Amino acid sequence: MILKRIPVETALGEPTNCYIVEDEQTKEAMVIDPGGEPEKIIEMLDTLGIDNLKYIYLTHCHGDHFGGILELKEKKGGKVLIHRDDAEGLYNIGISLTYYIGMEDITLEADSRVDEGDLIHIGNIEFRVIHTPGHTKGGTCLYCEKEKLLFSGDTLFRGTWGRTDLPTSNFADIINSITNKLAILPDDTIVYPRTWENNKDKRRRTNIFKSTSKIRLEN
Ligand SMILES: [Zn+2]
Repeated sequence: MILKRIPVETALGEPTNCYIVEDEQTKEAMVIDPGGEPEKIIEMLDTLGIDNLKYIYLTHCHGDHFGGILELKEKKGGKVLIHRDDAEGLYNIGISLTYYIGMEDITLEADSRVDEGDLIHIGNIEFRVIHTPGHTKGGTCLYCEKEKLLFSGDTLFRGTWGRTDLPTSNFADIINSITNKLAILPDDTIVYPRTWENNKDKRRRTNIFKSTSKIRLEN
């Protein structure tokens, strides 16, 4: 598997990690969270020799995770996937927060809605959808058992978790998602979140994650 991380600038003022995964044998590929700077993502896809994307996967419906999606989809194709509980957020700016973030309003429809346990195949690579409500009600993480990695979106960061003061957020849900769905993953799982650096009040939140310290976050 080829994995590329592309930090893209968003109106939020901090980069969002956009990820590309590609199966080398079949050349099938997926982009995860194209938050902005679509030209950078397209350039990397060109470099990898990927003409047609299979999927554009959104971990959740916030604008800083799909700001680059329209140009990316127009140039490279790709079915847009998001959890069914977050699909509304793609055309409801009160939920996607595009205005709040300070970006132009983008509305779109998902091509397909995913659910807990759904399997997504990129060539011979299999990803499992883990529904992790809390940051948004339809937030998900994507887990690949074979490659031992987890794309965690805004659910889990280094020593902390995503905001729970936003529309459809729920604090109890995110704690439940992390402790009961993510902390049970194997010790050597590598987590790829939206950003490496996050949250000024990190120290205050760190202790509670002692129980999840077996999840290794990549530098
Ligand atoms: Zn978010």
